[in-house]
Amino acid sequence: MWTEDPDSHKLLNHLGPEPLTEEFSAQYLYNRSRNKKLPVKTFIMDQKIVVGVGNIYANEALFLAGINPNQSAGQISLFSYKKLTQHIKNILKQAIKQGGTTLKDFLNSDGKPGYFSQSLHVYGREHQPCTRCNTVLVAIQIGKRQTVFCPKCQL
Ligand SMILES: [Zn+2]
Repeated sequence: MWTEDPDSHKLLNHLGPEPLTEEFSAQYLYNRSRNKKLPVKTFIMDQKIVVGVGNIYANEALFLAGINPNQSAGQISLFSYKKLTQHIKNILKQAIKQGGTTLKDFLNSDGKPGYFSQSLHVYGREHQPCTRCNTVLVAIQIGKRQTVFCPKCQL
C-alpha cells in the first residue's frame, strides 16, 4: 500500500537549494562535499546538492573555474568552490538575460540552446582548441554524461 502524505514527499524534501539563492554558496558546497570521492561534476549535477545545474552549465562553470571535472568533490578547496559557485550563478544569470527566458525553462533543458551556444567555451567543442590556451579540448564520459574540458586549464 502506498499513501502519499504531501508534507513528507521524499524527493521534494531532499532537494538542494536553487543556484541563485544565498543558501547556495562556496561554504555550502565545501561542507557538503567533505569526504566525498565522486567527481565534482557529478556532485554539482546532483539535485540533492543543488537544483537545476544541467550538463551544459556544469561543463562551462568547471571550465571557467579551472577545475578538472573528474576531480573528487571532497578534494576541492573552499577557494575553488568560491570560483565555481560564482561562475554557476553568472552563467545562469547570463542565460536568463540572453534568452529572456525563465530559470525554469532552461533548467529543464539539456539540449544546446541556440541563444547560448555562442558563449560556450567547452560544451559541444570537443577536439577544438581551448578558447584560452589553444590546447585541444578532451571529451570524456562522467556519470554517462558528455564532459568536455581543457587538460591544461583544468588540471
Ligand atoms: Zn585551455
